[in-house]
Amino acid sequence: MIEIDIPGSGEKLLIEHLVLDLNGTLALDGRIKPGVVDLLRELAGNLQVHIVTAGTFGGVEQEVQGIPCRLTILHGGDQTGQKSRYVDELGAERTACVGNGRNDRAMLEKAALGLVVVQEEGAAVGSLLAADVACRDILDALQLLLHPLRLVATLRT
Ligand SMILES: [Mg+2]
Repeated sequence: MIEIDIPGSGEKLLIEHLVLDLNGTLALDGRIKPGVVDLLRELAGNLQVHIVTAGTFGGVEQEVQGIPCRLTILHGGDQTGQKSRYVDELGAERTACVGNGRNDRAMLEKAALGLVVVQEEGAAVGSLLAADVACRDILDALQLLLHPLRLVATLRT
């Protein structure tokens, strides 16, 4: 668990789950980006890591090998709703999410902490607005969770 006390917000975040989108977030063109595996391994000491993806590029299981996580490949329509319900089932109030696409909007909005990443694929503007913090890349986003004082500095009021 990660504890984040944000002055002025009147709340203390107790984060147990980290839900991540894959493509455009952890991966580019279906390949995990450099540096991601090590940071997720480190975070997995304190958080349950979940990767939820539409699996657009195939070979997902192989690509996430080495990341201690629960992998869920979504099928069928309404992936925005499927991702959102996934967070509901974990408990949105103790979940942080990282994503970039339009189908990440609802989970980013719902989660106690929503981080949107603006990388090579860009980020859907609706998802950007639904997040709490916009990060320039996934390494910065994961580092925020490893150094919560950075988050406090950004979110305090
Ligand atoms: Mg994406």
